[in-house]
Amino acid sequence: MSVRPQTKSWLKVVLTTILLLTPTACAVQNITTAQQPTVKQRTQNQTDNQAYTDVQNLVNMGPRVAGTPTNEKASTYIEQQYRQAGYRTRIQTFTYSKFRDAGSSLALDGTTIKANAFRGSAPGKLSGKLVAVPNFGRANDFTKVNVEGAIAIVKRGEIRFTEKVQNATNAGAIGVVIFNNKPDSLSSGTLTQTFKIPVVGISGDDGDTLITRTQIAPLNIDLNANGRNVDVTGRNVIAYQEGVTQPQVIIGGHYDSVEGSPGANDNASGTAVVLDIARKVSQTPLARQAWFIAFDAEEDGLHGSRAFVNAATPQFLSELKGMMNFDMVGVNNKLLIGGSSELTKLAKVVQPQAQLYGANCANGASDHAPFAAKGVPILFFYRGMEANYHTPNDKTVDPKLLNETIQTGLDIFKRLVNN
Ligand SMILES: [Zn+2]
Repeated sequence: MSVRPQTKSWLKVVLTTILLLTPTACAVQNITTAQQPTVKQRTQNQTDNQAYTDVQNLVNMGPRVAGTPTNEKASTYIEQQYRQAGYRTRIQTFTYSKFRDAGSSLALDGTTIKANAFRGSAPGKLSGKLVAVPNFGRANDFTKVNVEGAIAIVKRGEIRFTEKVQNATNAGAIGVVIFNNKPDSLSSGTLTQTFKIPVVGISGDDGDTLITRTQIAPLNIDLNANGRNVDVTGRNVIAYQEGVTQPQVIIGGHYDSVEGSPGANDNASGTAVVLDIARKVSQTPLARQAWFIAFDAEEDGLHGSRAFVNAATPQFLSELKGMMNFDMVGVNNKLLIGGSSELTKLAKVVQPQAQLYGANCANGASDHAPFAAKGVPILFFYRGMEANYHTPNDKTVDPKLLNETIQTGLDIFKRLVNN
């Protein structure tokens, strides 16, 4: 259709008005048909997103640090979910000693700098000259300054904290301040041996400021290291079907998180995956082949899984075909599966796309390790390191990755039991 010019203008107005007023049939069409899921789809969606909902519910509680009221609330939530899915539950408590900072600081000229005492250092208050140690505090760096009877300040990095503190002690320092090599705070540092002097960590920003001031004029500070070992009670949540005293498989993951992190990926994701596998098999004979466990205090040193294997009889452990551990499975596309060779072979058959990595993860830092140490075959499900790890930003996961992990876990569990 071609149109004469002057006529064009009023015609254009008319056409535009019609277009604007008429809703685009196809879009509406799509919305009405495409977005009105059927009842079956709605239930599937809900089921599919139940794991994601569990992650959000756990995240919304705040950081789930072992031994805190928030973490107890999380264990109650998890227990309720298992019961709703038709499982019996019990709480396995255990106690361990944990280093906790009850408020350490540096003070100078009336200003206070927040600090964190290092595990393995001595509590105490002292005052002294602050001496900046060059580089990263190797033995040689301490020969360039005099820290005798003074408080040494040294940067994080390159060598272990323990080596820096040992060098400072050898050089006669009465205390050590380690500042982060990033602007933010140095929340918890661990020394692999016990020292008789106080050692605290501060943020990179505060460290840089202090170093600059020591270069302008001698600086005296008050150091208060207020870290102590306290007894903590952890709570493993164990779910099982009535009468199942000897499962073939343990399926688990930890639910605690570190200080300051809501732990969506580490490890509400693994907790939710294990819970959802239990839901999905709850009405099938498979439910009686496993115990489903949410371990506590993994972040403090695998205390929950260690307490479980230590409380189990050798008979119980020897009858296990395997332990499947899920940790950090909600971020990163690639699902990594590691563990005992016979089980990783089986996993590869079930999930050819899965990326395997060898048995060395058996002594890795997650809840499968105490089982492996007792000779139980293990499989470790993990999606790799990510930027929000152990930070306040670990707030969300990808529901698609959760569902993919659930399906893979389910398929391998079935295969393992029937193997
Ligand atoms: Zn973890």
